[in-house]
Amino acid sequence: MRQALGVAAPGPGILNQQVGIYFEAPLGHLVVDRPAVLYFIENAAISGLFAAVDNADRWVFYTGRPPDWDPAAGGLAAERCVELVRLAAGLPDLAVRVRSVLPWAMAAQTAQRFRAGRVFLAGDAAHLIPPVGGYGMNTGIQDAHNLAWKLAGVLAGWAGSSVLDTYEAERQPVAQFVTEQALLNMRQPGRPEQYASLGLALGVSYDSAAVVADGSTVPEIANPVTDYVPAARPGSRAPHAWLRRGGERVSAIDLFDTAFTLLAGTSGQPWRDAAVTASRDLGMPLAACTVGRGGELGDEDGTWAQLYGIGPDGAVLVRPDGHVAWRSAGSGAEPRAELIRVLRAVLGQARTRAAGDV
Ligand SMILES: Cc1cc2nc3c(=O)[nH]c(=O)nc-3n(C[C@H](O)[C@H](O)[C@H](O)COP(=O)(O)OP(=O)(O)OC[C@H]3O[C@@H](n4cnc5c(N)ncnc54)[C@H](O)[C@@H]3O)c2cc1C
Repeated sequence: MRQALGVAAPGPGILNQQVGIYFEAPLGHLVVDRPAVLYFIENAAISGLFAAVDNADRWVFYTGRPPDWDPAAGGLAAERCVELVRLAAGLPDLAVRVRSVLPWAMAAQTAQRFRAGRVFLAGDAAHLIPPVGGYGMNTGIQDAHNLAWKLAGVLAGWAGSSVLDTYEAERQPVAQFVTEQALLNMRQPGRPEQYASLGLALGVSYDSAAVVADGSTVPEIANPVTDYVPAARPGSRAPHAWLRRGGERVSAIDLFDTAFTLLAGTSGQPWRDAAVTASRDLGMPLAACTVGRGGELGDEDGTWAQLYGIGPDGAVLVRPDGHVAWRSAGSGAEPRAELIRVLRAVLGQARTRAAGDV
């Protein structure tokens, strides 16, 4: 589809050809003292890695595609796969039952555009990321999370079509950065970032028309791949904090699933009320509540107010993909008018539909 649309995807492209052998064998007892997700194999006969499926009897062995791989004959014969698994395990008599054999290519490239008219590229269609670090699917799911509410808004009529352009503006640079990091992992075996990438996964921050900046500066992060510094700066992923709903303990991030959500401090009732009115006026899904002592949600240990960086009369608006759209540290002169202005900007409502829009 990407090629048919004429969208270029620069990058080194295919790096090497691999094969994955999915098999059953009783290997679990060998690693019972060191259970892991991946077991790297490097011996005189073969190199590759075992990926645990159940860490007992089911495994995938990944290795470079051997020279006798023959697409015309279905790839590799089952006996040959058994031989490769035995070489890797170092057990010449291991009982192996091959369940499937799939070729795949390790590649690195990122599409220059994530949108071509009515077509949106997401996941591996938009970016091929070497799996060295395990970033590919995370990045694809973030794409879908980013795009879904924008499409829903445009189709339902509460978002303007220009909001769809923010998908590429927000996701393309992230995919590009992630691909570069995976390439570095591949070229520098043992790089710590391969095994510790919380910053890469959770520290994603957007700067686009679907975010209203609040003038705060990007925090200094020594290593943005390994280190995740939670912050509710507009554009960043609204961080986790434990909150109280009645007798129940809830994570802040579980509040942001389906609608826009406005969280106001305990004296932020005007923001909360403005959100209820704005939701009705703009015909959009927008939940609102106050957080803190005496609020609709309790701030269990005060970390919410501190992490979200607002005072008791402030508010923060979070998008349905969990990213902060806007934040006001304190009260506003005209909360309703301000919130409507913010929402119209974030939803791209100022612009009219153009030809080629969804
Ligand atoms: C060995 C390996 C290990 C990996 N490890 C990790 C990891 O640890 N962590 C991580 O985050 N990511 C990992 N990844 C990457 C991850 O698997 C991919 O990024 C992810 O699967 C991409 O999802 P997708 O939905 O975009 O594409 P795909 O999973 O490729 O799904 C596309 C689907 O579309 C179907 N399809 C194609 N054409 C058509 C058509 N014309 N009509 C109908 N259906 C069609 C395909 O059959 C396929 O089912 C790994 C990848 C590999 C190869």
